[in-house]
Amino acid sequence: MAIDKECKLASRSHSDERTIISINGVDIGGSKLVVMAGPCSVESPQQIDTIASIVAKQGAVILRGGAFKPRTSPYSFQGLGENGLKYLRNAGEKHGLLTISEVMDSDQISLVANYVDIVQVGSRNMQNFSLLKKLGRINQPVMLKRGHAATYQDLLCAAEYILDAGNSQVILCERGIRTFETYCRNTLDIAAVPILHELTHLPVIVDPSHGTGLSRLVSPMARAAVAAGADGLMIEVHSEPSSALSDGQQALDPEQFATLMHSLINRSSCSV
Ligand code: PEP
Ligand code: MN
Repeated sequence: MAIDKECKLASRSHSDERTIISINGVDIGGSKLVVMAGPCSVESPQQIDTIASIVAKQGAVILRGGAFKPRTSPYSFQGLGENGLKYLRNAGEKHGLLTISEVMDSDQISLVANYVDIVQVGSRNMQNFSLLKKLGRINQPVMLKRGHAATYQDLLCAAEYILDAGNSQVILCERGIRTFETYCRNTLDIAAVPILHELTHLPVIVDPSHGTGLSRLVSPMARAAVAAGADGLMIEVHSEPSSALSDGQQALDPEQFATLMHSLINRSSCSV
């Protein structure tokens, strides 16, 4: 009831039909599983080009790569900024992939939106309400990642800010939450998928890379997400995980990514 009132545009009662977000022939929220893949950070033109070629060959349709990075420490790699966005777009165009990258600040919206097809709001910014309101005024899809300590209602109310400001193209992403368990980076909440599908008409993507933080857990959790009905996956992939400038420990190498993609084709009803 609270969801129907406080997040009415996001709620299932607002629309019986699931929202499908169509971008240049790719439907997010339709019958086909959508795979977004790429490095945590864009590191160089060669790095993103190599990874784009690998993920495109395996059936991913959206290239991810951070150019503005929200890092816990100010001394960690912060991303290449606008150059990173350029390299990402070039690699996406060359390999026929749509692109997604994070916007960290209101000041960066037009810059990021100019280069990518989907603007990502990171977990740490899920409740940055002034950023959300401004993203409600752009004419581009926004993927909103669940905050570390956000309930489903918090997530849907954050989506509501974007919807209420006029942008109906919102994609939700479950990326794990903080719990008392510290073995993994986060606790990936697979139940979020069927629950969000009950509560909202918006598409639901799962990110098992940030959700677990450990590359060996990414594929099993990706398959679990698909079994639970996820509309898509966001997977970090690196051609050489051990030399990645960020999140190498959770990146799949090309072979692991290929194995995951084959297992999705063989085992799910969705085709990739
Ligand atoms: C990311 O996807 O690059 C990222 C930083 O993820 P999150 O906001 O979920 O931590
Ligand atoms: Mn990352």
